[in-house]
Amino acid sequence: MNNIYDLIIIGAGPGGYLAAERAGAFGKKVLLIEKDKTLGGVCLNRGCISTKSLLNSAKLYYKSLNSASFGLQVQNAFYDHAQAMKWKKQAVDRLTKGVAWQMKRHNVEVLNAYAKFIDRKTVEANGRTYSARNILIATGSEALKPPVPGAELTHALTSNELLEITALPKKPAIIGGGVIGIEFASFFSLLGISVTVLEMEQEILPGFDGEIAAMLRKSMKNVSFHTGCKVEEITAEKVVYSKKEKQQSIEADLVLIATGRAPNVSGLGLEALNIDFNPGGVAVNEKMQTNIPNIYAVGDVTGRSMLAHSAYRMAEVAVNVMFDKEDRMRYHAIPSIVYSFPEVSTVGLTEEAARKLGRSVKTAQLPLQANGRFIAENVKEKGLCKIVIDSETEALLGLSIIGGQNSEIIYGAAALIEMELDVRDIKEIVFPHPTISEIIKDTLWELSEQ
Ligand code: FAD
Repeated sequence: MNNIYDLIIIGAGPGGYLAAERAGAFGKKVLLIEKDKTLGGVCLNRGCISTKSLLNSAKLYYKSLNSASFGLQVQNAFYDHAQAMKWKKQAVDRLTKGVAWQMKRHNVEVLNAYAKFIDRKTVEANGRTYSARNILIATGSEALKPPVPGAELTHALTSNELLEITALPKKPAIIGGGVIGIEFASFFSLLGISVTVLEMEQEILPGFDGEIAAMLRKSMKNVSFHTGCKVEEITAEKVVYSKKEKQQSIEADLVLIATGRAPNVSGLGLEALNIDFNPGGVAVNEKMQTNIPNIYAVGDVTGRSMLAHSAYRMAEVAVNVMFDKEDRMRYHAIPSIVYSFPEVSTVGLTEEAARKLGRSVKTAQLPLQANGRFIAENVKEKGLCKIVIDSETEALLGLSIIGGQNSEIIYGAAALIEMELDVRDIKEIVFPHPTISEIIKDTLWELSEQ
């Protein structure tokens, strides 16, 4: 039994590699098994980092064309897609190598292989078996293509393929107005490419504050939005959809299918072990344990909060619990960000969600045009901050914001919610000036003036 590991991890995305890092730092004997050639999972290789890198190139291009008011005249600005892709690859390579280095630093053994369960303490990979006291499933998720005729056509892509295109489309269409769809729409829009977004719900960004989602929709140039519509077929030149039972179509030379992702639960041998799972994910408790106590699951494979930072936190909880440290996963203060232009961030409850839950809340909002930093750095752009407060306890329950680089400040609101601070506590905090963050405190003052 000498060769038994303290922990075997299947999958080296954010959930898997962070769990390996943390367990390694505790001095545990860890084996990390990854089927892809590089570590980092979807997030590093074909998700968070790739999209943000390309979006940054598109934002710089847009700003170079729209900075005359700030005294900046840029002549002959053009977007070089080949160079932007090269830059994206460089960023991905640096980060995936960084993960490999972290594994070495924490004495984590890494195996490049497909892993599946043999029994509750054993997995098989590359024809060999490996045993551990604890096993962590961190196999992530894959893009899902709905059963729409034409979804198999070569120009109907998921985000994986879109992130590898060598030539830009002239008339792209995006099916799905969720975060991934809107980020790609923003990318095309900033480059001046006309793009159509088709969304089944009545508003884009389901789950986000409706007013803020509508503001983003209205502020994105070069984008035609069709909401409340169902895609019927993709053909070589068109996307056919129905709206209010009327069939319509739009032309498209590239179609991004961004209608959701499915947890990777098949091929792992979960059935034979009687692990509680379904196509929606592996069921876990708040300690990230499956129904088999020494088998844990974290990240997208749980089907809950499919975000890299959620996977990180779930990984920390799982590792703490398996090595006898008290911890539990909480989902109520996880920020969600759309890295569009303008950016949108939200954390906690929106007003709609709070009312649906029957919570007694009061709300306040303030345009970002009341913020010094925002005014200094924007010409015509508009922004908005909205807060949701528990009427009885006065605790902050939620915050949504559009405008400014709000992705960098939303963690602050998450901390306020997580710490259960109330309006009075927050008003005593000194916010740096001039920063977008001040809008949080100023919006709270709107509340008391209602
Ligand atoms: P994954 O990152 O999916 O990693 C799972 C790993 O397990 C993969 O490397 C896979 O190869 C491996 N694996 C699977 N099965 C096996 C097996 N049987 N044996 C061995 N290895 C296996 N999230 C954010 O928070 N911010 C963002 O900005 C953001 N942008 C995104 C943009 C796009 C286009 C996409 C698609 C996603 C984005 N996400 C973002 C979501 C984020 O990428 C995921 O939430 C995150 O990667 C989940 O991490 P994970 O560890 O659960 O799984």
